[in-house]
Amino acid sequence: MQKEIDMLDVQKIREDFPILKREVNGKPLVYFDNAATSQTPQVVIDAIVDYYSNYNANIHRGVHTLSQEATDAYEIARKKVQQHFNAKHAHEIILTSGTTHSINIIATGFTNFLDKGDEIIVSALEHHSNIVPWQMLCDRTGAILKVIPMNEEGELLMDIYDQLLSNKTKLVFTNHISNALGTINPIEEIIDKAHEVGAAVLIDGAQSCPHIKPDVQALDVDFYVASAHKLCGPTGVGMLYGKEEWLNKLPPYQGGGEMIEQVTFEKTTYAGLPHKFEAGTPNICGGIAFGVALDYMNSIGFDTIAAYEKELLDYGTQKLLEIEGLKIYGTAKNKTSVISFNLENIHPYDVGTIVDKLGIAVRTGHHCAQPIMDFYKIPGTVRASFSFYNTKEEIDALVEAVKKAKIMLR
Ligand SMILES: *Cc1c(COP(=O)(O)O)cnc(C)c1O
Repeated sequence: MQKEIDMLDVQKIREDFPILKREVNGKPLVYFDNAATSQTPQVVIDAIVDYYSNYNANIHRGVHTLSQEATDAYEIARKKVQQHFNAKHAHEIILTSGTTHSINIIATGFTNFLDKGDEIIVSALEHHSNIVPWQMLCDRTGAILKVIPMNEEGELLMDIYDQLLSNKTKLVFTNHISNALGTINPIEEIIDKAHEVGAAVLIDGAQSCPHIKPDVQALDVDFYVASAHKLCGPTGVGMLYGKEEWLNKLPPYQGGGEMIEQVTFEKTTYAGLPHKFEAGTPNICGGIAFGVALDYMNSIGFDTIAAYEKELLDYGTQKLLEIEGLKIYGTAKNKTSVISFNLENIHPYDVGTIVDKLGIAVRTGHHCAQPIMDFYKIPGTVRASFSFYNTKEEIDALVEAVKKAKIMLR
């Protein structure tokens, strides 16, 4: 039976985002840089204003009313994150400063769990934040980094993955969706096969969470990480899910306040989960706003969002390909609403500059994924990434702007 999916009323949704009313260079803003950060709905802005206007206080330590209110709100946010990702326990959710922070907690934590010659597998489609911490881990431990290669379409070569796996494999890391190309990776298969050889798996969900609601228990994944700012939340806050047994085993990442049970100059004992990984005063307001952003997105519904974004992707792909000399990078069968492209013989930066003059925000460059650009032997791409608040009319504006850029730059 086919599930009923609500139609998305995009004009009504756009009303929720005050920034979409502004102009850039005298033109209505067209915001197509959603893969770098999403825009913020009024309910999230209101939550931030409410926090600083009414109950700004440090959490967990105070007996006074404001501190208790802030603590309650922060812990409610943690519960919302738990429910959204379907973690078994709230204490398996660590609130961090974002995906990068979350990955570093795990990469550093594994230092004492790896021996020289152990192997770590990453995918060719990774963001630098899911490459560099593992290289640093390999430098510390003598472990070896192996890479699952990709094909011309931007899909991982899963038969090579099978060959890379062995009893030496201790960890496997991949993103769920590539931020540079939009490829949706077969993470269920990646996780299951890694577990067959006894390796732990970390999934970088920074780019998938705006489009797909993950279920960490169904995936049986060991670690899952994401950032709030790509999910309509504020910057500087994110999450790390870890299975309880792993989080208990791993050492704390930073020492400081909040993460201790008892401190003397002879010996310190650590707090239990999740506080063991939350040293210092966190981004309290950001955490609370993260919870509100999840509520907002769930109120629209991820099936509705995915169906609408698929329409935008198909429309944008078709319209852009009508421009002669335009090439799209990343043509995986399974992909989200990211279109990375170049005009023949024209530098992506030049295209980006001209379309910005016309009020359109796209990203140009290597998108923190230089190995992918090296694979295609290009300096970078122009990347238009669509969100559920974008429209087909905005895509038309982009197509016109790219045509103009082509004429001007020829
Ligand atoms: C954005 C992104 C990151 C980094 O997220 P931060 O919020 O900058 O820490 C990591 N991986 C992917 C796939 C991303 O899209």
